[in-house]
Amino acid sequence: MSEHSPKRIAILGSTGSIGRQALDVVVSSGGRLKASVLTANHNAELLIEQAFRTKPTAVVICNEHHYAEVHDALGGTGIDVLTGQDALEEVVARDDVDMVLAALVGFAGLRSTVKAIEAGKDVALANKETLVVAGDLIMNLVRQHGVKLIPVDSEHSAIFQCLVGEDMLSVSRILITASGGPFRGQTPGFLKTVTREQALQHPTWSMGNKISIDSATLMNKGLEVIEAHWLFGLPQDRIEVVIHPQSVIHSMVYFVDGSVKAQLSSRDMRHAISYALSYPQRMPSSWPPFDWMEHHELTFEPVDANTFPCLGLARRALQAGGTHPCVLNAANEIAVKAFLEDDISFTEIPEMITDALEHLPVQHATTLDDYVQADQRTRHHTEALVSSRAKA
Ligand code: NAD
Ligand code: MG
Repeated sequence: MSEHSPKRIAILGSTGSIGRQALDVVVSSGGRLKASVLTANHNAELLIEQAFRTKPTAVVICNEHHYAEVHDALGGTGIDVLTGQDALEEVVARDDVDMVLAALVGFAGLRSTVKAIEAGKDVALANKETLVVAGDLIMNLVRQHGVKLIPVDSEHSAIFQCLVGEDMLSVSRILITASGGPFRGQTPGFLKTVTREQALQHPTWSMGNKISIDSATLMNKGLEVIEAHWLFGLPQDRIEVVIHPQSVIHSMVYFVDGSVKAQLSSRDMRHAISYALSYPQRMPSSWPPFDWMEHHELTFEPVDANTFPCLGLARRALQAGGTHPCVLNAANEIAVKAFLEDDISFTEIPEMITDALEHLPVQHATTLDDYVQADQRTRHHTEALVSSRAKA
């Protein structure tokens, strides 16, 4: 990564929370990084603005209804404008892409990540659902194609950074920190009545809607346990979760000699994004570093598994293996969407996921298609349950 040859990044989901912050990292990289591809689902206006600002060689507007708007706006700039879901799979393989930042949300991010790996591109992974759904398949492809998979999720970036120069045989366990979300310390009774607006108020991070609800239910930590299992090759009984409300220590690694390494930074995702995009180097940054004067106390407490059952559900799905984490993820995506649309209550989210895990069989999966089918089956099952509840 020299000044003369910037690392060229395809930012999938550039209009989202991670995507926008990634573009900040690229713009402030002093020419070390270049955004060669930007993609959005339907936010044409922001995609056009980003394209004028950063001059990629291609953009994708996935939703075809917005194609004409983007195409007309970028006419004469020389920027290729593509549309449709298949275009995502096409752009990741372009010659002018060195690394793909997977920052789509949900199962929708799986296929393009698979294609990027198959095309031999290094991947900076924000889209944790990819590893939750098909961790086995993804890690096999990463090995087979000899590419790097660098985590962007702050906890996994922390663990990854603590492991630099270490031997996995020296690791006894890892500790993933959690803010506890907006409902930390509340009772199950209180959670029955919480609104969408309350659930979206995250105490320490500003993120997209889906991950904000996952943080409120603590499903986000469940997904992160599964993500860590695949990334670091550890069994789940060596992956612990602790509530750390200040969100300053992003995670820790315990070693066999009793030493513990932790990674700290201010609560700004640009730290983890910058590390993933510039790895194995570090780039100077202009955003504020961790300031101990602001944080006089760093505290820890256990997870209240009774009030927040989602973490246990994720552990149960990982234990069952096969397609069960995929079932967990699909049921969660449908339940979160239904909650955001006011069709079900907050406490019905874990109920829907429990129902899916109980009714859908654990199946052995080896191909992408096996996961696509398990995902589809679960979506139909959970959507039917949502409409029966919504009518009741
Ligand atoms: P977001 O909702 O803000 O953005 C999602 C992006 O993906 C948007 O650009 C959107 O246009 C695009 N997109 C969504 N659905 C699509 C589809 N079907 N086809 C094509 N494009 C689609 O989400 P986010 O908060 O940026 O999160 C992105 C991923 O990063 C998630 O997997 C999340 O768990 C993970 N993550 C986010 C944060 C954070 O701080 N936001 C932190 C850690 C991990
Ligand atoms: Mg995280």
